[in-house]
Amino acid sequence: MVDESLFADVKKKIPGSSMPDTKTDGRQPMSQKTDLRELTLEQLRAFLAGLGKEGFRAKQLMRWMYCRGVSDFSCMTDLSKEFRAELEQRATISNWHPETVETSIDGTRKYLFRLADGETIESVRIPMEGGRATLCISTQVGCAMGCRFCLTGCFGLTRNLTPGEIVNQVCAAQTDGKVNNIVMMGMGEPLHNLENVITALRILYAEEGLDFGPRRVTLSTSGLVPQMLELGSRVRVGLAVSLNATTDEVRDRIMPINQTYPLAELMRACRAFPLQSRDRITFEYILIRGVNDSLRDAKRLVGLLHGIQAKVNLIAYNEHYGSEFKSPTERDIEAFQRILLHSGMVAVRRASKGRDISAACGQLKGRLDKSRSREEQDHS
Ligand code: SF4
Repeated sequence: MVDESLFADVKKKIPGSSMPDTKTDGRQPMSQKTDLRELTLEQLRAFLAGLGKEGFRAKQLMRWMYCRGVSDFSCMTDLSKEFRAELEQRATISNWHPETVETSIDGTRKYLFRLADGETIESVRIPMEGGRATLCISTQVGCAMGCRFCLTGCFGLTRNLTPGEIVNQVCAAQTDGKVNNIVMMGMGEPLHNLENVITALRILYAEEGLDFGPRRVTLSTSGLVPQMLELGSRVRVGLAVSLNATTDEVRDRIMPINQTYPLAELMRACRAFPLQSRDRITFEYILIRGVNDSLRDAKRLVGLLHGIQAKVNLIAYNEHYGSEFKSPTERDIEAFQRILLHSGMVAVRRASKGRDISAACGQLKGRLDKSRSREEQDHS
């Protein structure tokens, strides 16, 4: 179970973070109908059993929703008219369209979705080699973790996303082209919304539906240690750890969660995380000039990750308004990477894509919310 006391701790340490009950989603009730997008195959089966329908109907509905992209029951022609009418009365299938799409010169596309309660979240489609695409999705509206280098962290947490809201980002992006891989690295700390994220993973994995294998989905955490271990014991997913520092002193400063789960504890959890032989934990390391990009940091990083099946993603900090941090120099990035490679580690430089469309976490939302509040002021 999720250790609620952790969040009380984090709340104390992150000024201004609002922390709703993690077991509820905070949504306004929209409809008495059941949104089938919220359900795993098992849950859909149980829902249909309640209507007196056979189990195989669940797979049939999954295929309509996810393989054929149909959300209108009247188009589901292999279901009887009576069944379709009953579904109309009892259920709905949410179907998202982005409110805003920005496309970068490098092909990165950023979607802003407005939710039923008026909140907004972002997803980013990142073009990869060979015409493939990775979709970065959000798991919360805002985030409570307060990482100092992250714009979303400045907003605080508003609420958790429901499983359907997590899955709908993928469905909407798929209408814009195939998504090959999913990374839960958008707004929010996925492990702070563990139950809904696990349900969403089960929906994403369903063979009769979107059929994403666990190797195609990566979840990134800032380091919620008990939830990391619970995740590993319940579901298979690629794990990424947003590390970004090699000493507690620096990590405490830029990632307040480190005050609750310091580096030694985090590394112990990484060593205990169940991995299959070809799996690696990805360690995200955002290089920030003069903060964590020294050669001593690189050497310490080698030591920290010793004995872990690891891969390091080096990302140059993407400067944005409201942050005092600076991007590292090209020379420093190269020197940092060289030390990791010479020690035999897998260390990849991840290109920062979509710079011209504010593709870093929370930037589009931040900009749109800012211009909205400016408009509201102008109209008042
Ligand atoms: S980096 Fe991730 S965990 Fe940290 S504040 Fe931003 S969204 Fe939250």
